[in-house]
Amino acid sequence: MSTSQTAVIEKDNDFPANLRTRGCPVCNYVIKTARDFFAHWQYALASDEAAQESFATELGFCPRHAWQLHSMSSPWGESIGLSALTEKIAHALANTECDETASSNVHKIPRLRENCRICAMLKDAEAAYVERLATFISEEKGAQLYKRSGGLCLPHLARMFAVVSNPVRKFLLTTASRRFEQVTQQMRNYAAKREALRRDLISADEEDASLRALVHLVGAEDYCAP
Ligand SMILES: [Zn+2]
Ligand SMILES: [Zn+2]
Repeated sequence: MSTSQTAVIEKDNDFPANLRTRGCPVCNYVIKTARDFFAHWQYALASDEAAQESFATELGFCPRHAWQLHSMSSPWGESIGLSALTEKIAHALANTECDETASSNVHKIPRLRENCRICAMLKDAEAAYVERLATFISEEKGAQLYKRSGGLCLPHLARMFAVVSNPVRKFLLTTASRRFEQVTQQMRNYAAKREALRRDLISADEEDASLRALVHLVGAEDYCAP
């Protein structure tokens, strides 16, 4: 393993730093993993024929990840990178039977979450991260840090329950409940201070409370694993 790979893994496992987020550490990890991949892949697609061929063979990515790749590509890079794929699709369509199977055969061309390589890669990366974080939280030092953090979003809390047992499960539930109570109060304070035109008294925690509430309820907006 190269030094840079080791450095990346150490950073990913720096749970004290990861837990300092105001969002969900698992969402953040998945978002970062996807961004790192696309930053590399958009470059490979624009410059490497083997990458273009493999992208064509796997028929691209699911809609969400195709658009994510698009958002990190230039029109120039994309024009080079996608042409092997579109050429392959032109051939496939020319060879598609004109009978009642046409619908299902064409339907099978675009990738879905079930057969998207990026979805599978992120799912594995996420599961491994949740396991490592669970191990960290199961120890006293990790539990203390987690208690002071914003905690996980509910979808990731649910995943973590699958890999921990009591008393960690109880600890996670109590901490999450307390965090939701706290954010409820912060949103109410924010609204009351706005209504009373006492904006100057609004704290930083009250200022972003509604955003944190949403992230912890449904996961981060940019989260894109299946
Ligand atoms: Zn999350
Ligand atoms: Zn995907």
